[in-house]
Amino acid sequence: MSNLKTTIGLEIHVQLKTKSKMFCRCDNDAEGKVPNTTICPVCLGMPGVLPVANEQAIIWTIKTGLVLNCEINKIAKFDRKHYFYPDLPKGYQISQFDEPFCVGGYLDVEGHKIRLNRIHLEEDAGKLIHCDGESLVDLNRAGTPLMEIVTEPDIESAVEAGKFLRTLQKIVRDVAAVSEASMEKGHLRCDANISVSDENGKMSEIVEIKNLNSFKFVEKALLIEEGKLKDKYPDWPENIRKETHGYDSKKNITYIQRVKEEAADYRYFPEPDLPPIDSSIFDLAKLKEELNDSEEMIVNKLVSNGIAEPEAKSLAANKAKLNLFYEISKSFDDNSLIAKSIVHNYFNREIDQKDMSFAKEYAEALADLKKEKISKAMFSKISESVYRDNIKYADSLAKNGGEQMQDDNELERVIGLILSENSAEVDRYNSGQKQLIGFFVGEVMKKTAGKANPGAASALLKKLLDN
Ligand code: ZN
Ligand code: MN
Repeated sequence: MSNLKTTIGLEIHVQLKTKSKMFCRCDNDAEGKVPNTTICPVCLGMPGVLPVANEQAIIWTIKTGLVLNCEINKIAKFDRKHYFYPDLPKGYQISQFDEPFCVGGYLDVEGHKIRLNRIHLEEDAGKLIHCDGESLVDLNRAGTPLMEIVTEPDIESAVEAGKFLRTLQKIVRDVAAVSEASMEKGHLRCDANISVSDENGKMSEIVEIKNLNSFKFVEKALLIEEGKLKDKYPDWPENIRKETHGYDSKKNITYIQRVKEEAADYRYFPEPDLPPIDSSIFDLAKLKEELNDSEEMIVNKLVSNGIAEPEAKSLAANKAKLNLFYEISKSFDDNSLIAKSIVHNYFNREIDQKDMSFAKEYAEALADLKKEKISKAMFSKISESVYRDNIKYADSLAKNGGEQMQDDNELERVIGLILSENSAEVDRYNSGQKQLIGFFVGEVMKKTAGKANPGAASALLKKLLDN
């Protein structure tokens, strides 16, 4: 029982963020649009129309293939994949059968190489909306370019499937920058295949789970299926069947949709209206140069610029924080201090939605913190108002009581006053209650409205009290 091995393969559909659709000039951004308004005779599948392939979508698919170590097919072509569905008016989907743009390749997940089978390009179908016993068709999404990434069955656990997807999301969103890749919004959709086998090669049925739209759901659904298949051992069916299951995230259960006895016959044939594409027309070296750094590369760069690894990782994992770091570093040169202040500051969690115009003011506050012109507490207050209310550093400084006290004579005067007002505490301190130093520092901070440097106050207090 413990020697059962889990095998998982994934098929991921990635919606490309091109301006126009895959084979026509319609707006590719259907989000929030009135149904059936971003459509034309081409994406409606009217007779007699001619598709024209979107060059940007092809280039982006090849770019993704380059990041994922694929071989770029010299000649690629589009094919018609036939099936009937109410949201597919043509009766076929333009996809790629035997000559996709990218073949092979792999993605490294924590040292484990997950091989890829292929990456091909195709068009999305429309959407069915079911309400009040009626089904309505919205074709705004019909014709949206989809990149389909198919792995080999190299994934060994539900957790690893989740890690694969999270890494892939960063690649298409940040490195190749071809998709917004939000799973919630359906830019990234995942079908998973899972089977279990024993050490003699006896294998369970293959279960395919369709349309998983969050990383958590992928992991949960796979865990459920893995458990079910293992529980059935050794009573697996003789003929290896393929079952399609759905996942109900509210109930956290999977349910059977259909049993496949044989592979569906889509009657693929070459799309007669689109010529094969010779990929040598694209400058692959240039496409490679255009790729953004991976998270790993960013971390390495930050570390070599004097930032500690934990902060470097935190910055690299969040684009908004990283942008803020670069913005601030334009006007302040202590990288390590900038990184620490971004990673450990109060706005850590809300920075995502913010524009970066406050960065310059923030840099000024950091510079004064470094020169000890303002205390840490004062810096927190000021940088927060600079960030939240978008006000100038100088104004916030004035509002919060100005710079830290620089005048030692003034500090000594204040301390003298406090000691004379608190003679009982001074006696207790002198009789051995040294912890009262905290009380005196507190009094100094109160009296100076937070402008004294607590370190300097503490040192001066000790000097005066201990002599
Ligand atoms: Zn159209
Ligand atoms: Mn597909």
